[in-house]
Amino acid sequence: MNKLAPLLALMLFPSSLAATYTVVRGDTLWGIAQRSGTTVADLRAANGLNTDALEVGQVLQLPGAAATPAATSAPTVASLSGVQVQTPARVKEGDPFVLRLSGDNASRVRVRFPSELNEDVRRPNEWLSPVQIGGAWVVLGRVVLGQTAPVRYELELDGVSAGGQFPVGPLGQPVQNLNMPASIAAVLQDPGRAAETAAVEKAYELRTPPAWTEPFAQAIAGGRRSSGFGQPRRETAGAKINYHYGMDYSAPKGTRVQAVNLGRVVLAATYPVRGGLVVIDHGAGLLSLYFHLSKIDVSVGQSVSRGQKVGEVGSTGYSTGPHLHLEMRLRGEAVDPARWVDQRLPQ
Ligand SMILES: [Zn+2]
Repeated sequence: MNKLAPLLALMLFPSSLAATYTVVRGDTLWGIAQRSGTTVADLRAANGLNTDALEVGQVLQLPGAAATPAATSAPTVASLSGVQVQTPARVKEGDPFVLRLSGDNASRVRVRFPSELNEDVRRPNEWLSPVQIGGAWVVLGRVVLGQTAPVRYELELDGVSAGGQFPVGPLGQPVQNLNMPASIAAVLQDPGRAAETAAVEKAYELRTPPAWTEPFAQAIAGGRRSSGFGQPRRETAGAKINYHYGMDYSAPKGTRVQAVNLGRVVLAATYPVRGGLVVIDHGAGLLSLYFHLSKIDVSVGQSVSRGQKVGEVGSTGYSTGPHLHLEMRLRGEAVDPARWVDQRLPQ
């Protein structure tokens, strides 16, 4: 699927502008070099550094920026001693994706995504350790809806960094006007909404070990897809654009809803917007969420197996008719549920 290429992170670029940068918490020399279109060697030379250690507040002279990696469209591939990484050639808005790590040191690498620093995402640029799924060491990534800048990744092992990037394409869906009736839109003003938001945000913070070993299943049998993932839409005429963070399946009230994979129930209650809600933690920062249920069959703390019934379709919360809204969230950000079906990992 992807070809491995030699390290590109230390290519030399000619200087074209001078600037300074003030170090913030979590910065590395490599990351600063990558973001400013220069190299670690040039940064060291420009600042007389003989160590890679940085201090918060330290001001660095940036020796120059030039043909930055962001200007290219082809994926670049990084390598470190004893580690190879395989990335997708290309992703699109709302995609989950997988960095596959191989080599003797694959399990010891740390990975982060510096491009997230420019995005509205939860815990941007978080250091991630590979997890073993299906016999491979992987790091899961996500592209948020509405964002099409290239994904940049950084690998770190024993103080040495490398990195690369790959392009992101648009979903290209037209904006839909929902024209929700005022009686239903009123739930968005419900005073109970703050507690609902806090409960799901807490679930988004979970970073438990991956629980699943089998491919993901459908959440509902025979449901008709009524609204696709990532649809940009306005609740009422003239309102700002929101994205549809899940996949809707139209089905009669009482239709069986099942867990898409092995996991542990972390929320099971009825809320103003999501209605009857079940949230399952699958580990590795991945949650599945089942909205608008008329009946809930599981409780918090319970382990569920792939295909186990978790509840029944309903129209509770912010909903105009019986349907299941299924979301998959990776470290808190919505990713396309269809990319997991019949897969252990998104391809
Ligand atoms: Zn929906």
